[in-house]
Amino acid sequence: MAKPSDFFECQKCGECCKGYGGAFVDDNEIERISRHLGIDPERFLRDYCDWSGGRPLIKAVESGCCIFWNKLCVIHEVKPRMCRIWPFIESILVDPSNWAIIKSMCPGIRDNGNMDDLAECVKGVLAEYDQKY
Ligand code: SF4
Ligand code: SF4
Repeated sequence: MAKPSDFFECQKCGECCKGYGGAFVDDNEIERISRHLGIDPERFLRDYCDWSGGRPLIKAVESGCCIFWNKLCVIHEVKPRMCRIWPFIESILVDPSNWAIIKSMCPGIRDNGNMDDLAECVKGVLAEYDQKY
């Protein structure tokens, strides 16, 4: 049975922590990250988040990187769902060609060419996340 590591090994380059728009946070994540930072959720939302479509997402700083990127993710233990499941995201199940787009951005992708195995890995990663959080 295929494993996520057959398809991906993070190179810790930080490319996926650049740019704007990926890391939305829900109420549980706001609570968890705030607690981790030792601040209240209102301050977390004010100082560390922007809003898009009425939903909070983690802010990017002037360099274009996520505010929590400093050679590594400084909130790794409590990072949001998108960061935790990456690159095994739902959109691969909707359209497998999204894997090629992800691959073009992420040097950690290993392309073994078996999309059925990849789909199983995506489902497994998502199910594991739902069980844990
Ligand atoms: S772009 Fe890919 S390899 Fe680089 S840090 Fe992100 S997940 Fe890891
Ligand atoms: S929270 Fe961490 S993993 Fe997610 S984008 Fe920011 S630095 Fe990257």
